[in-house]
Amino acid sequence: MVGVRTDPFDVTMADMRDHRGSRHVVRRGELAEALVADVDARVPAGAEAVADVDLDAFDGGVTVHGTVSSPWEGECRRCLGSIDGELVAEVREVFRRGGSEDEGTYAMGDEHLNLRDLVLDALFAALPLLPLCREDCAGICPTCGADRNAGDCGCEEVVIDPRWSGLEILRGEVVSSPDLSAGDATGIPAGEGAGEGA
Ligand SMILES: [Zn+2]
Ligand SMILES: [Zn+2]
Repeated sequence: MVGVRTDPFDVTMADMRDHRGSRHVVRRGELAEALVADVDARVPAGAEAVADVDLDAFDGGVTVHGTVSSPWEGECRRCLGSIDGELVAEVREVFRRGGSEDEGTYAMGDEHLNLRDLVLDALFAALPLLPLCREDCAGICPTCGADRNAGDCGCEEVVIDPRWSGLEILRGEVVSSPDLSAGDATGIPAGEGAGEGA
């Protein structure tokens, strides 16, 4: 059954009417779709995003400042282990009646504004581009594939065995290729009758 649902990120001016100056609001709602900044980092679909902001009305618009947060998840770039955590982004944005994002502001109606685009933009920008499970993640051993965070896998560091440096380099005589004068195949026109499989 489809019912009318109130948009959780909607804020009506009635919310502000009783409050001269600043008004604190907290809005939380699930994201319908995942936010993916990179294959290795995302806010999963269904995650709850929270906008915890102060609204300051001015003639022609509203200034919104505070924090936007949500869980995120990803894979470590070095060890490929799963990571999850909390994104927290500071926001300070302006909503203008009749404004557009081209002007660096968000548009709002006469009687309401919607925080959803601001929330999505802030979370997207806050996703790490180089997710690491921890700053000093040791990554995966290139030799055996073991997670080196779990301990020494015992593989030797890859070094060139000095004995190989003394190996005599075999020099074969470079045999000149025989002239390929027998067939000049460049005269065949290309691109004729390219297959148009139907
Ligand atoms: Zn890692
Ligand atoms: Zn190893």
